[in-house]
Amino acid sequence: MSKFTVQTLFRPEVLALSAYHVADAHGFIKLDAMENPYSWSDELKQTWLARLKDCPLNRYPDPEARELTATLKNLNQLPDGIDVLLGNGSDEIIQLLLMALPPNSHVLSTTPSFVMYKQISDSLGLNYHGVSLRADNLDLDLAAMLAAIEQHNPAIIFLAYPNNPTGNLFDINAINQIIDAANGLVIIDEAYEPFANSSFMNRVANNVLVMRTVSKLGLAGLRLGYIAGERAIIEQLHKIRLPYNINVLTQSSVQFALKHKEIFTEQTAAICSERALMLTALNSLNGIIAYESLANFILFKTPENQATRIFEAIKARGVLIKNVHPQGGLLTDCLRVTVGTPDENQAFLQALKSAL
Ligand SMILES: *Cc1c(COP(=O)(O)O)cnc(C)c1O
Repeated sequence: MSKFTVQTLFRPEVLALSAYHVADAHGFIKLDAMENPYSWSDELKQTWLARLKDCPLNRYPDPEARELTATLKNLNQLPDGIDVLLGNGSDEIIQLLLMALPPNSHVLSTTPSFVMYKQISDSLGLNYHGVSLRADNLDLDLAAMLAAIEQHNPAIIFLAYPNNPTGNLFDINAINQIIDAANGLVIIDEAYEPFANSSFMNRVANNVLVMRTVSKLGLAGLRLGYIAGERAIIEQLHKIRLPYNINVLTQSSVQFALKHKEIFTEQTAAICSERALMLTALNSLNGIIAYESLANFILFKTPENQATRIFEAIKARGVLIKNVHPQGGLLTDCLRVTVGTPDENQAFLQALKSAL
């Protein structure tokens, strides 16, 4: 007989969680996860492979990933005194930030927003608060945000800029007022910066940190995120990260990819022009309201009580998107589609049309 029960072994907040569900995309046109649909030329792949050949797999990676960190600091023109911490995806950085907080701390973000802020806060037993966005324009409800800051005194505020899953950039003036009102850290999560042309990177100082990832840019498989902030803050986070959190293949491959940044510039430009075409196409459909997006995905509203049926019908035609309707609130009746290649987008639009 077992001496323990799972129910008594683990923290109640862990038992209460449901696992982050990732749909099985095998065999589908995959427009569910904000991936860049384009790959590299064979020639570029050959050069990359030649470089990987010399990666010492028998050795631990550089624990500080010095070369890559220097490249990222350089690319972002960070001034002295601002440091960078790398993570196994920005997901890991969210986890590190939250792990460093005292027990019972409060964490604030918007509803809807990136689900990992709440998921990780909950798993650590922190107090998470999501303030609803404005129903009329999906922007920050500044008065409600300021009231929540006053009430909960959050140790960390997460603002996704552009926001996932709404795709919009929040009002800069409102963000500035939130930064001024906050006694804790404000994390501007710029996962979609390559598609947005707007950034807080030059505002990093004091309690403002900017987080980025190479995932949406086109390197999701490598798992690399980073955060820029005051040295005194980054220093503390380094103490709790695992020593070799960025593996040698990722360090070498991202370094290589960033040397060839122009491919991503081309690819993201292609995605942005497809985004404009998709938005027009979606809004021309009877019953569909698509929201303006500055990311590589589009949120759209379907006729009442139809979202799940339409999602399944699109899936039955071989296209996987994301059903965000179950999240409720402002996402009721909504679906989210990643901008893919022109062919993929056409397949999606055809599937949607036949589902309506
Ligand atoms: C996708 C996403 C992330 C996670 O990125 P990874 O680096 O792949 O972990 C972080 N924040 C937002 C808003 C995202 O949409």
